[in-house]
Amino acid sequence: MSTQQSTTDLSSAQHGLRLHNSHQRTTVPFTPDDAANVRIYFCGPTVYDRVHLGNLRSMLSADILVRLLRALYPRVTYVRNITDIDDKIIQRAQENGEDIANLTGRTTQDFHDDLAALNILPPTIEPKATQHIPAMLEMIGRLIAQGHAYEADGHVLFDVTSFPGYGALSGRSLEDMLAGARVEVAGYKRNPGDFVLWKPSNEDEPGWDSPYGRGRPGWHIECSAMAERYLGESFDIHGGGNDLLFPHHENERAQSLCCYPHSHFARHWVHTGMLLSGGEKMSKSLGNFHTIHEVLERTPAEALRLLFLGSHYRSTLDFTWEKLDEARRIMDRFYRALEKTPPTGAETVPADMLDALCDDLNTPLALSVLHRHADAALEGQQEAANLLLAGGQLLGLFSMSPADWFQGGTELDPAAIEALIEKRLAARKARDFALADQIRNDLAEKGILLEDGPAGTTWRKG
Ligand SMILES: [Zn+2]
Repeated sequence: MSTQQSTTDLSSAQHGLRLHNSHQRTTVPFTPDDAANVRIYFCGPTVYDRVHLGNLRSMLSADILVRLLRALYPRVTYVRNITDIDDKIIQRAQENGEDIANLTGRTTQDFHDDLAALNILPPTIEPKATQHIPAMLEMIGRLIAQGHAYEADGHVLFDVTSFPGYGALSGRSLEDMLAGARVEVAGYKRNPGDFVLWKPSNEDEPGWDSPYGRGRPGWHIECSAMAERYLGESFDIHGGGNDLLFPHHENERAQSLCCYPHSHFARHWVHTGMLLSGGEKMSKSLGNFHTIHEVLERTPAEALRLLFLGSHYRSTLDFTWEKLDEARRIMDRFYRALEKTPPTGAETVPADMLDALCDDLNTPLALSVLHRHADAALEGQQEAANLLLAGGQLLGLFSMSPADWFQGGTELDPAAIEALIEKRLAARKARDFALADQIRNDLAEKGILLEDGPAGTTWRKG
């Protein structure tokens, strides 16, 4: 295999990116407004609880898209917000007896930790809703002035009948939506589908002073205001899980297009598929709600990354522990190939892999290219090992050395090892030698060897 046939310059124009656009309901060529600065907004989490694997899959899909865009274009501005004011947050803080700032700060940190474990790169800008209330109020003021919103009973509501394009993004007719929304319609709404831009806050709820009284923003206006602040009235890509298509994205679009009538808001809408767990939607009540912590107890996070990459981002993926184990075995094989033939460089990404990604992020096909190069690297072919490394790194894989991977990947931190040594010592003192041996063996399986000496027990990596 020659270098010319198998590799290419990433900036080459031949890799035209095609992306599915939910608005057009088909896959179309992606053409940025400004090729010198591609602008993308992805809806981030509402920080009231640890995110589940479905949220992480959506963030990973965005990560792959942004990594590809960064490979194809000189600059990418990626904005992903934090929703840190929401009724769910207020309710959870009350249940926990916890200060709201503490809850949102703690949960934001957990979110960052979870993404870092999966090697999901941080966005360019990560705005928090509570820091952009004036921008939201400015948009609300404009919408009222232009006849798209009205005050009622302490609320400000968006009048969905004022925007002829309402429903176009999600493919719903206004009539259907109005019919479907008949249950539990608040009396102050002109139309059942009208949604909240601003709502009043009780004394014990967080609130900001506004021309409509002390209150807080609705969820949808938060994203519209933050997108405009950092990306402008019009930008390239807006994304999120497909559960956000309606009403969240439909409402964002209505607000922004009515507020800035000469803009196109987001040109391209990208939606990621659902993650099921054992065939059902993940939920705490079904006991199939998994966090990345449970995954890390079983495998390094890279195996989860591979599991996600193994299905197309728009498809529904059913998570099972068996699939995770299978993904780990595939990673074992990739790392064995890199161990057998250590790469001498990773400058070039396989051209056919880039083609696969440019075809609406076809990650299953991209992985098949990696498999082919892993086969050849296992046979000792040097160029294949280099291509395997470069291709895998573009997908955010191979963040560790083969040696580290085979030593368990999930590196125990020294404090955790010391704690286990203490526990073993206590077991020996209590003459519970079975437990002491079990601790020693468990550590050995993770590549940590204990040595008992006159000065106590020390450890080293085996
Ligand atoms: Zn949003």
